[in-house]
Amino acid sequence: MFIEQPPQFFRALYPCALWRMDPNEKAVYLTFDDGPIPEVTPWVLELLDKHDIKATFFMVGDNVRKHPEEYNMVVERGHRIGNHTFNHIRGFEFLTKNYMANADKANEVMQTDLFRPPHGHMRWMQYLALKRRYKIVMWDLVTRDYSKKLRGPQVLANVMRYARNGSIITFHDSLKSWNNIQYALPRSIEFLKEEGYEFKLL
Ligand SMILES: [Zn+2]
Repeated sequence: MFIEQPPQFFRALYPCALWRMDPNEKAVYLTFDDGPIPEVTPWVLELLDKHDIKATFFMVGDNVRKHPEEYNMVVERGHRIGNHTFNHIRGFEFLTKNYMANADKANEVMQTDLFRPPHGHMRWMQYLALKRRYKIVMWDLVTRDYSKKLRGPQVLANVMRYARNGSIITFHDSLKSWNNIQYALPRSIEFLKEEGYEFKLL
């Protein structure tokens, strides 16, 4: 619970960040972190196309550098891009100056006004610096698809349990999540459609 659906006090630490969209609207917002990579991203794109869903991909700059083809695929299909730093670094381990330099480096390979901090961590000074330049996007539901302790059905169960109006939902197009999302992502989409949710783009 604590991880899947961040509690209010945690959300209050970064009040200008986006955690959840309109709670009165029967809609969810899919996001995918840590790509793009050739092993997973094209599979996610195919699935989203099949359901005519647009999503936001928070990309690691170094992956964009290594996989420009997959980056272009995401852009060409009409999805939105967000900055997830160049090296997927943890805010607490870096001085603000260096953290911002890493985010700026990522923005050289993808121009975007959205930012999501890796691991959900930012020092206060980093948050203040980031929010001057970006819309910071956190999440209302993290599926934990990356967890080695979870299997696909448990990831799906997280979506079934915690998705609600306006949820910004986080999956990962990464090798860590690959086993889990093959099971959980198509079924999550089916479930959310059956529940009557519209899929909207941030
Ligand atoms: Zn990440």
